[in-house]
Amino acid sequence: MNTTERIDHARAALLTRYEALENKNDIVKAPELKELFGLIPTLQPDERASFGQAVNQLTQEFKDKAAGEKIVAEELPAIDVTAPFDVNSKSPVLLPSENGTVHPLMREIEIISDIFNRMGFVTEESREIDDQYHMFETLNFPKGHPARDDYDTFMTVETDKDGESLIAPAHTSTMQNRVLKKYIANLERDEPIAAIVPDRVFRNEDLDARHEHTFYQVEGVYVAKGVTVGMLIATLQKFLEEYYGKSLEVRVNPFYFPFTEPSFEFALSCPFCEAGCAVCSGSRWIELLGCGMIHPNVLRSANIDPNVYTGFAFGCGIDRLVMMKAGIEDVRHFESGKLDFLRQF
Ligand SMILES: [Zn+2]
Repeated sequence: MNTTERIDHARAALLTRYEALENKNDIVKAPELKELFGLIPTLQPDERASFGQAVNQLTQEFKDKAAGEKIVAEELPAIDVTAPFDVNSKSPVLLPSENGTVHPLMREIEIISDIFNRMGFVTEESREIDDQYHMFETLNFPKGHPARDDYDTFMTVETDKDGESLIAPAHTSTMQNRVLKKYIANLERDEPIAAIVPDRVFRNEDLDARHEHTFYQVEGVYVAKGVTVGMLIATLQKFLEEYYGKSLEVRVNPFYFPFTEPSFEFALSCPFCEAGCAVCSGSRWIELLGCGMIHPNVLRSANIDPNVYTGFAFGCGIDRLVMMKAGIEDVRHFESGKLDFLRQF
């Protein structure tokens, strides 16, 4: 037998042995390999090197085979990292719901809704994706209007039937046109349109303690015959007094929004102090929300005659209300999912 034949002969014997072995790694201790290694010193010097190399290669061949076997044997079922529980465990245990708490923002939305519902407002939901027609056009921001730049938000790659990107609403006013149209029959019955829209909005913000890309607003809309600025101020004042459980002073300063005319910035006397505190920066006043009389063009876009009906609208950040009320220093806590924060409520 020449050296090549010896190696091939040994390989065949090793394969038979390998199949029978329980621990495949034991193949390196096989007598066939020992015999081959034992042969090396007996060979002529010119044969030793090539034969030794061939024996080493054969050994490595079986080592690799055993190593591959090991990987297959230890392969575990795939883990679905998106599963809400460990899918590999036999009976998934879901967290009992009684251990959870209502998110502080959701709780506040319920309180706010309750106050407005008692004042005769219905609660409507917003949406998390909308078209530019509702976000801007119906609110008296024509195409190219510079005030659109104040609402820098997120857009989709997909477009609507007008070829415009869909957007993540940057304010709950995106629902005004729909709310006005939905309840327009109220006006024919001589009843007001009165609705609030507390929901999630989005902005492209540089995040810090006061700015978050996702936050909550409550929008209010009221339309009837003979609605005045006095009714707007009284409604907001009554709401805030009920919300904070004390009488408050309010004041309005002129402001600009495309969808209201006139527009105001609404401030209230600080509900937390008598002589200045951190919440009001010592000024005793808190600038809280934007409001105004609904622009005639906004009423027209909902097929309401501005010569017959007038109305007011307001928008208020809910996160800020909760932050002031509960002394929360960083808006980013709300979306953080941190249990040590959420369990305080
Ligand atoms: Zn204060």
